[in-house]
Amino acid sequence: MAEDCIFCKIANHEIPSNFVYEDDQVVAFKDLNPVAPVHVLIVPKDHKLNLSQYSQEDEQLLGHILYAAAHIARELGLEENGYRVVTNAGPDAGQSVMHTHFHLLGGRKLSFDKQ
Ligand code: AMP
Repeated sequence: MAEDCIFCKIANHEIPSNFVYEDDQVVAFKDLNPVAPVHVLIVPKDHKLNLSQYSQEDEQLLGHILYAAAHIARELGLEENGYRVVTNAGPDAGQSVMHTHFHLLGGRKLSFDKQ
């Protein structure tokens, strides 16, 4: 756990949050400022800055995060219409919380800026 990391504190249940899922490796909770009707953050419990800090040793965890995303999407009824999973790594992506997290978005049509 990293000191002064808000997502570490949420994952450690030191700060209340609107949890939708938890297992031994990840927690998932509702985003404070949702940009879609469903906006959940999937957060690994171990602190790392972002995707760039993972190595081959973390393949299991990275796969597990996507598995958890698909599981949560199913539980929240997003499967039929679809959903998006995205992670922001670094300033060009607009990362604002410095603890790895994956956004699960759904419940409306999602545009995608590829530029
Ligand atoms: P990013 O811009 O990819 O770093 O996304 C960070 C996300 O975390 C944003 O969508 C914020 O709304 C969300 N966020 C920040 N603090 C909290 C919090 N305490 N609980 C839930 N979501 C948060």
